[in-house]
Amino acid sequence: MTQRCPHCQIEIDAPTLNAYEDSFVCPHCAATLSHSQIDIFFYAFCFIALVSLLLITIGHINTFIALVIAAVSYRFCRGKLFESRFRLIRCTF
Ligand SMILES: [Zn+2]
Repeated sequence: MTQRCPHCQIEIDAPTLNAYEDSFVCPHCAATLSHSQIDIFFYAFCFIALVSLLLITIGHINTFIALVIAAVSYRFCRGKLFESRFRLIRCTF
């Protein structure tokens, strides 16, 4: 998963969300980076809303069950589909 460091603009291999606690350090400029919480929330919300809506309208599945299926499938798809799209931001703490 190659992404660009927002500080030094060099391509870096960002760790997965599960691989770090709050932040990680850029190997080139030592800036403290993390994935954008806004992007993480935005993609999760869109995916879960879309998938559960499809399951409810097309599959005629109970709303609660559809939400659970959508949330679980997001959990499994996130690493492959979404994490490389999350913007990296520089932490300022
Ligand atoms: Zn950097």
